[in-house]
Amino acid sequence: MTALTPDTRVMPRIEAPAALQSLIGLGRDDMRTALITMGTPERQAKMRVAQLWSWIYHKGVQDFEAMTNLAKGFREDMAASFTVERPEIVELQVSQDGTRKYLLRIAGGHEVEAVYIPDENRGTLCISSQVGCTLSCTFCHTGTQKLVRNLTAGEIVAQVMVARDDLDDWPEDSGPREGRRRITNVVLMGMGEPLYNFENVRDAMNIVMDNEGISLSRRRITLSTSGVVPEIVRAGAEIGCLLAISFHATTDDVRDVLVPINKKWKIETLLETLKAYPRLSNSERITFEYVMLKGVNDSDEDARRLVRLISGIPAKINLIPFNPWPGSPYERSSWGRIEAFAEIVNEAGYASPVRTPRGEDIMAACGQLKSASEKIRKSALKKAKV
Ligand code: SAH
Ligand code: SF4
Repeated sequence: MTALTPDTRVMPRIEAPAALQSLIGLGRDDMRTALITMGTPERQAKMRVAQLWSWIYHKGVQDFEAMTNLAKGFREDMAASFTVERPEIVELQVSQDGTRKYLLRIAGGHEVEAVYIPDENRGTLCISSQVGCTLSCTFCHTGTQKLVRNLTAGEIVAQVMVARDDLDDWPEDSGPREGRRRITNVVLMGMGEPLYNFENVRDAMNIVMDNEGISLSRRRITLSTSGVVPEIVRAGAEIGCLLAISFHATTDDVRDVLVPINKKWKIETLLETLKAYPRLSNSERITFEYVMLKGVNDSDEDARRLVRLISGIPAKINLIPFNPWPGSPYERSSWGRIEAFAEIVNEAGYASPVRTPRGEDIMAACGQLKSASEKIRKSALKKAKV
């Protein structure tokens, strides 16, 4: 087959200003291809990728100029074709409890949120995988929004990089400051269903976990899913991080309403799949997230059914007091009810921390992401129109 080469003598060349390609989110193979396409000789490409990789993902530099062990000419060539710029922080809100919420603008003018939650001896960054969500869990505000689009791998990794920039969390020259990392854990619990954006989430997490890159252990990454059964199997094989399941109900009738994906994959099927998740053990337990909704799923009977259902699975149960949003059809269970539920679960031998709502003053809690900022912007718009 002959290659089709455009005849430049007859085809007018239209010079459009070339958009810079972002290197953030590219794995080693894709970065190598990008460099070769840009003109890097093949025999040099592997070494160049290793150097760039370290500057971008390990040291976190924000422009090519700072990559001091690369020849000046090469840095200039890189800057002419590529970028390592991060998405813009449109808004940073800091809560009284230290929680930081980043609203980031991504290509197409869309916005996503990431939330940093500091604790005594850990710092968790909660990141988003989609703008909106295709699923429509009835207690979740994100679920009331249409899916706008999947985030690219670069946009997912960039959330971690932006937060590391902001928190001054890149290693110092003298070596990694493992003991003093501010982001010690990443959870995919922001907007979107990560397993409906599988490839991008996988590629992003493989960069976050890379030993020569951001270097967070797979055991410090937790992916939360509503229960996309076939993709849970893939996540075990291709990502290997920890899992959290948005369980929220103990009968199919109730779960069908709260987490409608349950109509497709019933509780029993979900639990069978979880039992087969790789490396499941006491040190790598599955987290069952359970949102406490008054009069819907919070009875003693529910608590007992819950522990019966998950028996045999190394598990933690994470009770989440419902975070209401304007117009939400549910109410938060009373503290007394949550405590009684937690006690049954504890007595059955499960750790069941009640997730203290964090960053409430900045609407950073679970299920409130993005929608809150949309609301604020809408009200600002209304004000502006008056
Ligand atoms: N789509 C994924 C991850 C994002 S949601 C999933 O469903 O697992 C992260 C967690 O917040 C999920 O457990 C979700 O069920 C919970 N959540 C959503 N809305 C909530 C609300 N209003 N109050 C409390 N938790 C909520
Ligand atoms: Fe989507 Fe998760 Fe919200 Fe369900 S709980 S609508 S899967 S973001």
